[in-house]
Amino acid sequence: MAGVLSKAYFHDEAAAYAKLESIIWPEGPVCPHCGSMGRVYSMTANADKRIRVGLKKCGDCRKQFTVKVGTVFEASNVKLNLWFQAAYLMASSKKGISAHQLHRTLGVTYKTAWFMAHRIREAMKTMGLEPMGGEGETVEVDETFIGRKKGAPKKRAYHHKMKVLTLVDRRGEARSVVVNDLKPKTIVPILKANIAKETRVMTDEAGHYYHLLKDFAEHHFVRHSQDEYVLPGGIHTNTIEGYFSIFKRGMKGVYQHCSEKHLHRYLAEFDFRYNARESLGVNDGQRAEQALAGIVGKRLMYLDSRRASV
Ligand SMILES: [Zn+2]
Repeated sequence: MAGVLSKAYFHDEAAAYAKLESIIWPEGPVCPHCGSMGRVYSMTANADKRIRVGLKKCGDCRKQFTVKVGTVFEASNVKLNLWFQAAYLMASSKKGISAHQLHRTLGVTYKTAWFMAHRIREAMKTMGLEPMGGEGETVEVDETFIGRKKGAPKKRAYHHKMKVLTLVDRRGEARSVVVNDLKPKTIVPILKANIAKETRVMTDEAGHYYHLLKDFAEHHFVRHSQDEYVLPGGIHTNTIEGYFSIFKRGMKGVYQHCSEKHLHRYLAEFDFRYNARESLGVNDGQRAEQALAGIVGKRLMYLDSRRASV
């Protein structure tokens, strides 16, 4: 980690601007006011006046801007290089990183660290999701319980706990949602909306999964109550259990006091890291860049729609 964190854009604001510009504007700066490309100039400082780092001027509409315009970075007083550090730390720590640790590492206030962490989690949310799985593909589905619902008594009863439903494509991504209950009428529509019909679905023997066969090409389940873990034909839910074990260790070790209101953000963070994991060929640095690109996702979508209309 030390090796990667020695890069200039983690420590130098101008270098961080240049890095963000290369992520956001791979084909050169785009004016956020009029959409002009190719007629954007960098402002250079003259002797008597300091020019803001990264300041640009559009030759078409004459307006000034930086790469931060319209993004969460614009409203934040935190230097861009610290945002890079935060994104890197969150993207590379398997179990996550607490706001306290960010606060100490970055030298920002706890409140600021908390704000940054949540913004980065928002950025990690995936958008425009296609159905998972498909013909010959396998998706494992399972639920887990975490923490305690607001105002619930300190009992161990599961209905007082927050519930998470996760879907893991064996060859790819994970998708997690917070659910109010585990009734089939809650669970099944989520599965149908997120998993392609042609998929082989694997679950355990829980009752809310009983009738999935009519919705998917195959539905297999293992009976953990009978010590069934792996059945012939690749029937198991080990992939999703691996996912949950990382999630639970992270939530226990780092995010003990997560409220129901924020749980979906933590899930987005764990899904994000899983979906950009090492074994899929994504390294820590690339993962951090993806997170930062997500922060300015609106800008990226704007660029994409521009390209699509050309
Ligand atoms: Zn312009």
